Amino acid sequence: MPKVAWDYVKPVKQHPDLKGMSPGKLPETILRPVKGGGKMFWMAAWAWDAMVTKAKADGIELKPVSSGDTYRTYESQLTVFKQRYQKEPIAGASTRTFEGVKWYKKSEKLASLAAPGTSQHNTGLAVDVHTAGEPKRLNWLINNVKDFGFSWEVVPEEPWHLRYCDGDTPPPAVVAYMEANGYVKGEAAGKAPGVVASASSVKDDGGDLDPGDSGPRVTKLQEELAERGFYKGAPDGQFGPKTVEAVVAFKKSKGFGDGAKAGKRVLDDLGIGL
Ligand SMILES: [Zn+2]
Repeated sequence: MPKVAWDYVKPVKQHPDLKGMSPGKLPETILRPVKGGGKMFWMAAWAWDAMVTKAKADGIELKPVSSGDTYRTYESQLTVFKQRYQKEPIAGASTRTFEGVKWYKKSEKLASLAAPGTSQHNTGLAVDVHTAGEPKRLNWLINNVKDFGFSWEVVPEEPWHLRYCDGDTPPPAVVAYMEANGYVKGEAAGKAPGVVASASSVKDDGGDLDPGDSGPRVTKLQEELAERGFYKGAPDGQFGPKTVEAVVAFKKSKGFGDGAKAGKRVLDDLGIGL
């Protein structure tokens, strides 16, 4: 393994949706398919997809080593762990503690593996990048991972292992990608509940109201749509899936076109100031 000149390791900030979750046993509802195969925790998935897209524009292909090198269940981590580590002592072998006892790596040629339940692959935050050590690719990663909320964990031994670190405050490049790619649609499909409530970085800016916005004007929007029979939930000031549904249905009824944006025509019609 060639040594590489970087040391970007950042602590992982916990996302509220992962609080109290058991590693390797995440519910499907907070996982999301990612570009290149596999699944990741929904926010990490957006960050990864955003990064893959930027890399592609720069002529660099990023993909996971395999679909098993994104989110891993506890069971799949355990299977691989047992392939590489054993309880019977081996002199000089590197070790891991699992279930309260020491396990010994069967061969130093094998890549190290975190004990089941302790890997960021079990929280859906980590992804192993295919041929990450290839100089052009590694150079691109060194220059770009920060912009997408990723950092390495074990350097320089594991250039492929990246994990998303920014919790519920993704960097602007990720937020922009999410907004441009209709992330509320994913949520509405039941793939990522909590996405809107957690995207606190997206505040109402006084213009059009969009999915992900929050604030008093969103409450007003919900109240007006409720009065007209379109909004079914309790007005909470969060432009989430129910608000999306209501806006889409309202626009359709008025012939205002598709999409979840509440633009000037919608707001005027509902008597909400732009
Ligand atoms: Zn990894």
